[in-house]
Order: sequence, then structure tokens, then C-alpha cells
Amino acid sequence: MSLDTLAFTNRFTQDLPADPEVSLRRRQVQGAAFSRQDPTPVAEPRMLAWSPEVAELLGLDPLVGESADAAQVFGGNRLPTGADPFAACYGGHQFGNWAGQLGDGRAIALGEITTPNAGHQTLQLKGAGPTPYSRTADGRAVLRSSVREFLCSEAMHHLGVPTTRALSLVLTGDAVVRDMLYDGNPRPEPGAVVCRVAPSFTRFGTFQLPASRGDEDLLRQLVEFTIRTDFPDIWGDGSTPLGQMVPQFFNEVCTRTAALFVHWMRVGFVHGVLNTDNLSILGLTIDYGPYGWLESFDPDWTPNTTDAGHRRYRYGTQPQIAQWNLLQLANALAVLADEIEPIQAALDGYGDTYQAGYRSMMAERLGWDTWQEGDDETISELFEVMQLTETDQVLFFRDLARVPVPDGVAAVCTDDEVLAPIADAFYVPNEVTGEVRTAIAEWLRRWGERVVTGGLDTETRRTRMDAVNPRFVLRNYLAQEAIDAAEAGDAGLVNELFDVLRHPYSEQPGRERFAARRPEWARHRVGCSMLSCSS
Ligand code: AMP
Ligand code: MG
Repeated sequence: MSLDTLAFTNRFTQDLPADPEVSLRRRQVQGAAFSRQDPTPVAEPRMLAWSPEVAELLGLDPLVGESADAAQVFGGNRLPTGADPFAACYGGHQFGNWAGQLGDGRAIALGEITTPNAGHQTLQLKGAGPTPYSRTADGRAVLRSSVREFLCSEAMHHLGVPTTRALSLVLTGDAVVRDMLYDGNPRPEPGAVVCRVAPSFTRFGTFQLPASRGDEDLLRQLVEFTIRTDFPDIWGDGSTPLGQMVPQFFNEVCTRTAALFVHWMRVGFVHGVLNTDNLSILGLTIDYGPYGWLESFDPDWTPNTTDAGHRRYRYGTQPQIAQWNLLQLANALAVLADEIEPIQAALDGYGDTYQAGYRSMMAERLGWDTWQEGDDETISELFEVMQLTETDQVLFFRDLARVPVPDGVAAVCTDDEVLAPIADAFYVPNEVTGEVRTAIAEWLRRWGERVVTGGLDTETRRTRMDAVNPRFVLRNYLAQEAIDAAEAGDAGLVNELFDVLRHPYSEQPGRERFAARRPEWARHRVGCSMLSCSS
């Protein structure tokens, strides 16, 4: 099946105002939602990785990824018939400060298509060359950050976390110069392009920018378009006045954002750059930059060295940061609403929605049927116990399902019996002695008693726990190993890891190494525990 059969509808560029200028002159774009811009061709595009599931989502033959044309199209060298490439205009708060116009500085959407089974989807090439929003930068992306985006998008999807998807990873054949740690050591790196796929890439900052400029007309058009195309339940037949739809729309964004952050806390994903331009209006994980996966349980951890000083975006504060970002969105949307109260109520409701979602998620993770009095305390105690010694949170939760709970009398288990199944979770096994060991074992027995009062039989409980506690996540060091190999010319590990991450909740005999806790060499290695925004 040829890529020229993709059914481009391009509603974003058809229905919204365009920047009248078509050029690469860097500029402030007023009164427009986007600027038309073609990708800049690359030297020698080569397909490194391809997602058959996303191809199918788009109605493509998964084998099309092997064609030379796919590398040309998804490397940005050939436009498929019907494409209408553009860079979107948006603004955002960066690290708490209003940054004004940002826009797609290196992402170029080919356009929106309709698909047989997945509604409308936008195809976007990240790293496709400069746009009017590139400011002083080159519009390109390096291989290491593109591998990270490709793998993590798909890993998140298979973990059940809402996310933008990744169709392809193309090596460009061009070098891109980056100063990886911003320490005065620029070097050329291989360039790459990832084709991202989502119903829309609209961000909180998309609405913030016209609101900040007092451009109510553009703001109204963007909100109407978004509700009509992506929130059809709110749009209905379109007869409800916009002033009444806006609070419903905002409420839905709050609900989806709460659900998203519950997922992140469950899987241990730390985004790293939760600026308002990096929050999707659809509640998807978007813009994979210096993200990381929580290994040893530490609420203060952030992978982003650019944020090391304040740790604004550390694991434990992500849900509050989301609410702060929602407040900024509320401020932008408020002028369009008939009444402010329902917007305020939605914002306040975020906290309750998040907490309810978090509790039911934790109950599932811990194998409890419903929430009971005292469960909050048991969970706080768990988090204290997990910080007594470095504890891998993925292995801990996954293997917890195997900790014995003899019929109705958890208390009869010895320390050895309850600790044995989770032994792999400890980074420094010889610290698990004395009081630390006793405290962990006591918590496990308390958990066992709670499991007994939860009333699920062992098999049901374990199956349920295994369905929410992954065996495989994109551990930071695994991503780095795949990148090292890819930079040396071998994409085999990228593809193997990609395959492992398609079944994160299954035990995969023979692939145990991909579930192993971080090895010592990776503890302080750049790319494994430390990442900058340079990408
Ligand atoms: P991010 O931190 O990746 O969300 O990017 C923030 C802003 O910088 C966005 O407007 C990006 O499009 C822009 N940007 C990041 N990297 C580049 C690049 N290499 N070339 C042009 N613009 C970029
Ligand atoms: Mg961004």
C-alpha cells in the first residue's frame, strides 16, 4: 500500500487562520494558529525502527515501513499526496515563567488524515528542519533523543498510559552539533527524525498565547476548533453557546490530566519538563525530552540536570505541577466563559479526581479490592520503608504479588519468607539487615493482613496486580545501551527493546535482563541518570 493513499483532510490548516508569510524568517506570528512550512530534505534517510501497531492504526500495511519510500517520506524528503505541512504557533510557561511565543521549532506536521479505525490522526515529523519558530536553533533532533522518544512513546502506550505515538525512527545521514551537557563541549552527532502520531498536538500553551496577546478572536477559533474536532461529546450539534461549552471543556481537560498523572505515578515516569507548552489538551504524554524512569523510589528525583537546582519537576511534585499548569490554562480560557465559577470548580475538582484515581490505582497495585480506612497510612508507611534502603520500585511492586500470605494468617510468615520474593528490588543488599530488614518485613506482613481483609483469592489478586505493575519499563540505562549501539551503527538493540516493551506486563522468559535493576555503571552515567534539555 502506497503512502500516497493516506487520506489527508487537514482540518487544522483548512479551518484555522494561517500566517500569511511563508518563509523561514524567525518572527512573532500574530493572529494565526500556524505557519505553512515544508520539511527540509536530509542527506540519506534510513529507517531504523518502525511501529507496526501505529502503521495499522493509520490503515497502512505494516510492511510499508520497509520500503525506500517510507524513509523518504518520514525523513521529510518527499511529501505524500495531500499533505499540507505546517508548524503550529503556541506559547508557554517555562519553569514557572511566562516565555511568550514558542511554537513548533523543529516539529513539522505533514497534516491530518482520517483513518479507517482510529478517527483522525495528525502525522508530525520531529527534527524535520527549521521553521519560523526555531529562534536561534537548527530545527533538528539528534539520534539519542529520537531513540528515546520513539521507544518511550510506544512503551507508554503498551503500559496503558495515554500518549502521542511514534510511527518511525529515521536516521537522516546528516550530523547535528550539540553541546550535550551545556558545558562548552559541542560535538557532531547523528541526526534523526521521529514521526509522531496523535489526534492533535494542541497544548495548553496553544490557548495561552492568543490569550496573553488579548487576541480573543483567535482564542475563540482555537477553542471552537478543538472542541468540535476532539471533544465531540461536548460539541454535540454545536448549538450550545461557546461560553457554556468552555467550562465543560476545561473540566474534561482537568479530568484527563488527573488520569494521566495517576498513570505516571503508577509506572514511575518523570517527564522532566512540565512546561505548559508540554501539556497536551487531550491528556496525552507529549514531548519526550529529558524524561526518566524512577528506579530506586525517591519522590525528589528528577532526571533533568537543567532543573537540578530547584527540582521543580521532580517525581513527587508532578501532580501539583499539573494543577498549576491547569490554572494557567484556566486563566487563558476564562475570557470565553459565561461564568467563572464552573471553571474554578473544575480546577478545584482536579485535586479530588486525582486523589480518587490515585487511591484506586494504589489499591490495584497493592492487590486490595476496595479502599479501606487506614489505607493512606499503610501507603505512607510503605513509602517510608522503601526509602530506608535504595529500593527499585518496579521490581518491588511487581514481585510483591509473590510475597506469601498464608490463608488468613499473614502474621505467621517469617522475615525470610516475606523478604525472599522481593530480594531483587534492593540495590544494596547488605543494607537490608537489622532494623531496616525488620521494618520492611513488618510492613510486608501488615500488607499481607490487609490483603486478607481485602477478600480477593490469591490467584485473582496476583493476576490483578500483574496487570498494573509492569515487569518491563524503559529503564534509563537500557535506553542508553540501545542508543550507544545505534550510534555505533547497530539498531538491533533499539528494535529488541522496542519488542520487549510491547508486552510490559508479561513475564518474557529469556528476556530477564531487560527487567534487571540499574547496574552500578549506570548510576552516574550521563544519559542514564542525568539528562539535559539538549536534544
Ligand atoms: P522543548 O523543551 O523540547 O519542549 O522545546 C521548547 C521550545 O524550543 C519549542 O518551541 C521547541 O520547538 C524549541 N526547540 C527545541 N529544540 C529545538 C531545535 N533544535 N531547533 C528549533 N527549535 C527547538
Ligand atoms: Mg515542547
